[in-house]
Amino acid sequence: MSPDLQNSFRPFQHSGAGSALHCDGVSLETLAKQYGTPLYVYSATQILERLGMFQQAFAGRDHLVCYAVKANSSLAILKLQADRGAGFDIVSGGELERVMKAAPQAVGRVVFSGVGKTAAEIDRALEAGILEFNVESEAELELLAMRARKLKVKARFALRVNPDVFAETHPYISTGLREHKFGIDIRKAVEIYRAAARNKWLEPYGISVHIGSQIRSADPFGAAMERVCKLAMQLKREGIRLKVVDAGGGLGIDYHERADAKAVSPAAKVQEYAAAIEKALEGFDCKLLIEPGRFIVAQAGALVTRVLNVKKNGKKTFVITDAAMNDLIRPALYQAYHEIVPVRPRSGRARAVDVVGPVCETGDFFARDRMLKPVEAGDLVALLDAGAYGMAQSSNYNSRFRPAEVLVEGKQQRLIRRREEIKDLLATEIA
Ligand code: PLP
Repeated sequence: MSPDLQNSFRPFQHSGAGSALHCDGVSLETLAKQYGTPLYVYSATQILERLGMFQQAFAGRDHLVCYAVKANSSLAILKLQADRGAGFDIVSGGELERVMKAAPQAVGRVVFSGVGKTAAEIDRALEAGILEFNVESEAELELLAMRARKLKVKARFALRVNPDVFAETHPYISTGLREHKFGIDIRKAVEIYRAAARNKWLEPYGISVHIGSQIRSADPFGAAMERVCKLAMQLKREGIRLKVVDAGGGLGIDYHERADAKAVSPAAKVQEYAAAIEKALEGFDCKLLIEPGRFIVAQAGALVTRVLNVKKNGKKTFVITDAAMNDLIRPALYQAYHEIVPVRPRSGRARAVDVVGPVCETGDFFARDRMLKPVEAGDLVALLDAGAYGMAQSSNYNSRFRPAEVLVEGKQQRLIRRREEIKDLLATEIA
């Protein structure tokens, strides 16, 4: 591994003692002043570095990195990656429209995953000429064939097989076991491919798998790929030659990385992941697709929020911020950990506090009993590693406006989504 890959770039740093936290070369204080809070801030440098890590790790074979749009679907983030050759993994018609708006030239690099696609979504994707449908049931394959026949185009498809591989992650984001709703039982796949190969509107183009998200070990990826390759070989012997193997997404990040001196570098993680996949693919000639989402954008983003007040209830101290679970739901939904850093640290001893938002739910918290340096009303704090499944999962719960987003590159910054206003909230409603 090259040394420059080992020392991967960290966008959120204090530029010196007593200075404000920066993203790349821009102070978060400056951004909060200009755009208000809560505010999502992303580093374009890191997003491109992470995309490049995957592209480099698989440079030895024909491959396409299909960024998983669901992780962060902001147009500017899609365009940034499309311009560097990325493809996209989508799971809805809405995500397809986003790709077509941000980077129409990339539509031929789109794979359409998802467990329930409508006829209208399929039609739109067929007409747009996407690369491949990742089909999750026999009923969906039938629907795809019907729509393809109607539109008189041949549909390239991959079966998303369920390899029955256990991936150690949160139960809500584990997808590769037989008991999950995702994919087709790998034991039934051959039969389905055989039948599909006889249908002139379907092209058996690939095979796909996705075993879950936030998976920290490379082993389950290798195990799933081995099963998939075995199946692809069997199909080849029967005369069904698939062009593509899609390994899905799911490579996790270290949300505790900054506190852990022994943390493995992101570049080393990608190398380990690539080695596990390459080993399973050995001797099998095909194009490889991968669908990383979180690994590319999570650590490139922070949610910057202002402390509204600090309140004591009995023995507990609550730091109440102007961001809430509607802006970043991961702690409430998955008990996820996000490091919280004062933008301009004050001196004094760290104390155990709960960091919470203003939403009327006890589940509206970012951290419980977290050791935090002293903060006061008006201070800014940053929730780190919030670039993935942050803004993308935000909502208007409690009729709150969704935050603005800023993309930073070096010393340049630009607004990529303005903060919502009351007119946005009311636009679709009829009293
Ligand atoms: N591909 C598919 C089919 C998914 O469902 C997901 C997310 O769960 C991803 C890719 C991206 O996963 P991650 O963001 O963990 O890389």
